[in-house]
Amino acid sequence: CGIVGFTGSKQAAPILLDGLSKLEYRGYDSAGIAVRDGEGETEIVKAKGKLEELKKMTNNGDAVKGDCGIGHTRWATHGEPSALNAHPHSSEDENVIAVHNGIIENYQELKEKLSKSGYEFISQTDTEVAVKLIDYYYKKYNLGPVDSIARAMIRIRGSYALCVMFKDYPGEVYTARKDSPMIIGIANGETYVASDVPAILKYTRNVYYIGNMEIAKLVKGGVTFYNIDREEIEKPLTE
Ligand code: GLU
Repeated sequence: CGIVGFTGSKQAAPILLDGLSKLEYRGYDSAGIAVRDGEGETEIVKAKGKLEELKKMTNNGDAVKGDCGIGHTRWATHGEPSALNAHPHSSEDENVIAVHNGIIENYQELKEKLSKSGYEFISQTDTEVAVKLIDYYYKKYNLGPVDSIARAMIRIRGSYALCVMFKDYPGEVYTARKDSPMIIGIANGETYVASDVPAILKYTRNVYYIGNMEIAKLVKGGVTFYNIDREEIEKPLTE
């Protein structure tokens, strides 16, 4: 339902929690964040119920250290509202970690395909299937982040706004969308992404609009856009 992502030099968790609180008006049943720094493990914290719960669990974000992260407020469509079904979802080895707005229509078919390749599923969500599909392409064909996301996008039917982190790419957040909104903001060496303007309005008024079936690679203070053929595309910065 609500997505916020950040990479920069500040601590990510308080920015994610603040951004998610600006999207609370949209309604949600659970929330979660994933935060990482340069090397260390990614920390994932999820809670059923109000954002307040997540804030308590993380001491308003102070307990979760790292300058790169993604956050989500979930409005359940597949699977009951619970901490387990809350986003972020990840591959077993946390190679791929993602949050998702929307619905993956062919998730059942994809789940069966991935199960045959040895994937196990711990949640009831369609989102976990998308995450593991990206992980599958990444490993099977030895692809980079943009290529594996593009390949998954071609395979997935439905609507989505995705924010994805890859273990091998610290400090980077990848985002892709189809029929679900997402904007990217830049300010003073920091890069923000969100499903709606209020989440990042406090930090910047300079935004990029990512189009349908496009992918963006966010680094600290910069962003590169790609079309579904993984060709780099230029975008205007708007105010
Ligand atoms: N379909 C996903 C789920 O049920 C995402 C729902 C949302 O947009 O919050 O987990």
